[in-house]
Amino acid sequence: MSYSKILLVVIDGISDRPVNGKTPLSSAKTPVLDSFAEEGVCGIMDPISPGVRAGSDTGHFALLGYPPEKYYPGRGPIEAAGVGIDLKPGDIAFRANFATVEDREGSFFDKVVVDRRAGRFSNTDELADSINEGIDLDVEFIFKRGSGHRGALVLRNNLSDRISGTDPKVEGKPPSRSHPLSDNPSSEDVRTAEIVNTFSEKAHQILKNHPLNLERAMSGELPANAILLRGPGKMPHVEDFKSKFGLSLSIISGTALIKGVGRILGGDVLQVEGATGGKDTDLEAKVKRAMESVKSHDFILLHIKAPDEYGHDGDFDGKKKFIEKVDRALKPLSDLDDCYIAITADHSTPVTVKDHSGDPVPVVIRGEGVRRDDVKAFGEFTCYRGGLCRIRGLDLVPILLDLAGVAKKYGA
Ligand code: ZN
Ligand code: ZN
Repeated sequence: MSYSKILLVVIDGISDRPVNGKTPLSSAKTPVLDSFAEEGVCGIMDPISPGVRAGSDTGHFALLGYPPEKYYPGRGPIEAAGVGIDLKPGDIAFRANFATVEDREGSFFDKVVVDRRAGRFSNTDELADSINEGIDLDVEFIFKRGSGHRGALVLRNNLSDRISGTDPKVEGKPPSRSHPLSDNPSSEDVRTAEIVNTFSEKAHQILKNHPLNLERAMSGELPANAILLRGPGKMPHVEDFKSKFGLSLSIISGTALIKGVGRILGGDVLQVEGATGGKDTDLEAKVKRAMESVKSHDFILLHIKAPDEYGHDGDFDGKKKFIEKVDRALKPLSDLDDCYIAITADHSTPVTVKDHSGDPVPVVIRGEGVRRDDVKAFGEFTCYRGGLCRIRGLDLVPILLDLAGVAKKYGA
């Protein structure tokens, strides 16, 4: 039997450093993950390289075979792709927040930021429309709302990303004027900063008079009368996954950041009802969708976010329980015989650190022809004894392509 489909399950931040000799993963009951370890080849993996604390975005670039130092465009373009903006090489993208500044006459940059998230106001469709329709700039731009108070701004036409944003990052201060980061700015640097400042001023003038905001102010709620921009980045030229590896890519994730990475690599981001990217996500629905996607795509990324959140919260028991829930939800994959399945993480998020660490993550690959090893449990203290030994994130796709018989030969 031969098959060339690959399902990569990334359980975000699943691994830890020990607390009294145990981790959430090692103390959780995970019969399904353990059966994969028993039937497959195991190892540990440095998502970027040993000791490097990967972000979820850079970690996923590496796991999908793209060196982040070459392709990672910064948060702005990833968030913009995540909200569904179709980025072109050279576009400058920012993360955006709807925010509240003081309600009085005068320039946007003279007013104090009252709330960086506009009271977490989330019904921002009309406001986003009014920005796109009401603002005239010298360059093409796209503004799109994201989830909650978030959004993204893209500027087109040969601009620069060597400029600062407008978000002061703290409340009680006025927005920062965008300025070139270099001591010897180019004309594009100067022009881009001017455009960003003009956009911000115009957005404020439109938003503060928008009926929705006047209504909010009347009822004592914070008006979403400003846009704060941060994380500028330039979209690089990225060869899409299909042309780079010859396989069609699909992404199942509830997290905007991972959807953004997937879109930047030319993957199909599949919608799943109930996939929230949080602790309340519908794991069963995501697994079902991943299994369906094996019929329509060659390489499927199934991303599960919440273990990372429990790690950031420092919640050992919560993480352990959620890992057990993930394990139960992955059960249907046990019967998926005509597909290589790899299970791993994009980085460790130890509950003791409450952030990502540079510790390696466990990895297992199950499928036809893998060299089964003696590892019988999926975890930090077991997988390193497996046949994959210690690999890097960038090694994963080549290993999977080779197993699946779709790797090109190097030499004669
Ligand atoms: Zn992550
Ligand atoms: Zn995280």
